[in-house]
Amino acid sequence: MIQNQQGTLPDAIADIAGVNSFRDALVEAGLLISTGVRGLFGRSGQFERVVEALDALITRLGADQQAEVLRFPPAMSRPEFEHSEYLKGFPQLAGTVHSFCGGEQEHQRVLQCLDSGEDWTENQKPTYVVLTPAACYPVYPVVAQRGPLPEQGRIVDVFSYCFRHEPSLDPTRMQLFRMREYIRLGTPDQIMAFRSEWIERGTRMIDLLELPNSIDLANDPFFGRGGKIVARSQREQNLKFELLIPIESPEKPTACLSFNYHMDHFGLLWGIKTHDAEVAHTGCVGFGLERLTLGLFKHHGFDIDTWPKTVRDALWDHA
Ligand code: AMP
Ligand code: ZN
Repeated sequence: MIQNQQGTLPDAIADIAGVNSFRDALVEAGLLISTGVRGLFGRSGQFERVVEALDALITRLGADQQAEVLRFPPAMSRPEFEHSEYLKGFPQLAGTVHSFCGGEQEHQRVLQCLDSGEDWTENQKPTYVVLTPAACYPVYPVVAQRGPLPEQGRIVDVFSYCFRHEPSLDPTRMQLFRMREYIRLGTPDQIMAFRSEWIERGTRMIDLLELPNSIDLANDPFFGRGGKIVARSQREQNLKFELLIPIESPEKPTACLSFNYHMDHFGLLWGIKTHDAEVAHTGCVGFGLERLTLGLFKHHGFDIDTWPKTVRDALWDHA
């Protein structure tokens, strides 16, 4: 518990630091920089060297796909976010951007509140900006606007910081982290083929990095009682697989890659059509860049120069 000026808040609400030995070791080594808020870190140059090398490795692995590269800031339009139904499944994870929208008088009130430790956020109003929850979210409306997909469908390459409000002591569960994704849009057969191909390629990538791994069926953390039913149905239909690497705990390995089949969910929502006017199906493969980086530091040590040469070659010497 911490004491703030409004009284005592439980840790989960206060969202402050606590003890986790792997996280503390990473901070001690300077790889992560603590901000005092759970799951919100700075990164060192060495950490970023690994993130960049992983990103480039993913580009090389997917080079044959002729994916269209699209980049967005780590935020999306609120109307599009509302339309995406993210709030139906994951209201607990969403992050919305609010800004001060008052006048002089309200400004004085903010300053007084800050002085006296009262709540100053009364005049913070929602903007049209929402933090991106998954790198693929801004893509669907853009592709929908272009009209029907070509016969071979499309593959889009995205990379974004993503926000999820899941403050945790576990350094592999961050509130702001980077996700690289390939998104496949097309017919059910095209999506299924893409997903099998990427389960194979993703496993090859992690083997190359000499990290222990396994593939398992998974579900998303849908909210509430109704969410349990949705999660069960997602599992029954084999819609989500994850590549797991033991990082924070050997018993509970961490999802580092995910392979998702959304069926016609986004196609229906956004009106995306195939070349022959069917509702498009979609899927995506997502790479969690911080989790992969933490996996490498966990298994090969905090000093990149002492990593196995084979691993360093896979990341940096691939000419
Ligand atoms: P998901 O959309 O939940 O399947 O996430 C895609 C990928 O992002 C996962 O496989 C993880 O590697 C990564 N990821 C998800 N949540 C977090 C988090 N809280 N912190 C760091 N990485 C995450
Ligand atoms: Zn996705």
